[in-house]
Amino acid sequence: MATNGESEQNQTHRHQEVGHKSLLQSDALYQYILETSVYPREPESMKELREVTAKHPWNIMTTSADEGQFLNMLLKLINAKNTMEIGVYTGYSLLATALALPDDGKILAMDINRENYELGLPIIEKAGLAHKIDFREGPALPVLDQMIEDGKFHGTFDFIFVDADKDNYINYHKRLIDLVKVGGVIGYDNTLWNGSVVAPPDAPMRKYVRYYRDFVLELNKALAADPRIEICMLPVGDGITLCRRVS
Ligand code: SAM
Ligand code: CA
Repeated sequence: MATNGESEQNQTHRHQEVGHKSLLQSDALYQYILETSVYPREPESMKELREVTAKHPWNIMTTSADEGQFLNMLLKLINAKNTMEIGVYTGYSLLATALALPDDGKILAMDINRENYELGLPIIEKAGLAHKIDFREGPALPVLDQMIEDGKFHGTFDFIFVDADKDNYINYHKRLIDLVKVGGVIGYDNTLWNGSVVAPPDAPMRKYVRYYRDFVLELNKALAADPRIEICMLPVGDGITLCRRVS
């Protein structure tokens, strides 16, 4: 992230904690949330997966524990049963979802990388949740196109979590709006994109942050202008925009 006035050194520090992409005023406040209400209530399997993920070189990609708790609560609130996840990595958000669904709940989970999914899979299996997951290795877009062509999947998903290639979010949205049911929810993750959405274009930014920034800005504009959804952008994790399909 490269917000005005913040040194690179400070940023490095802020990113040392796995999944710490908090947009809160201070690290202390974020730690307070984690220590007071997230870690004490984190299911053992999620803790185990979080610790395994922390040792992986790409651990910056994982969903943070507070966002995992949020997703778990949200899914229960909306009584989600049939869900989809685009972008699994080692499966922290997937596990948060699987724990929230009823025993006959389903998650269609997609990722181009099976290896990372398999890192977390033994923990998901041990928790007795693997039967809820239909994992597909490969790019998500062709799977969505196939489902739309099939015709059977229109308006069938209660919840869809999108946490993958940000340059495709608009393409996902074009398809997902058809697959989510009216009244169902799509959650687009990282919509505040390390705070870069408000950084001036010439601000110093990590390469990947700069690359995806314009796509995130475009997505945010498109979602705000889409009359088929109601939206709510939350500063949880790196920002999540919830979209409730209304027509
Ligand atoms: N939700 C995950 C979690 O809780 O740990 C984090 C997902 S990580 C930020 C993004 C993932 O998207 C990566 O595992 C990457 O392999 C995957 N990905 C990238 N491009 C993709 C594509 N076209 N289709 C499906 N997955 C993709
Ligand atoms: Ca994310």
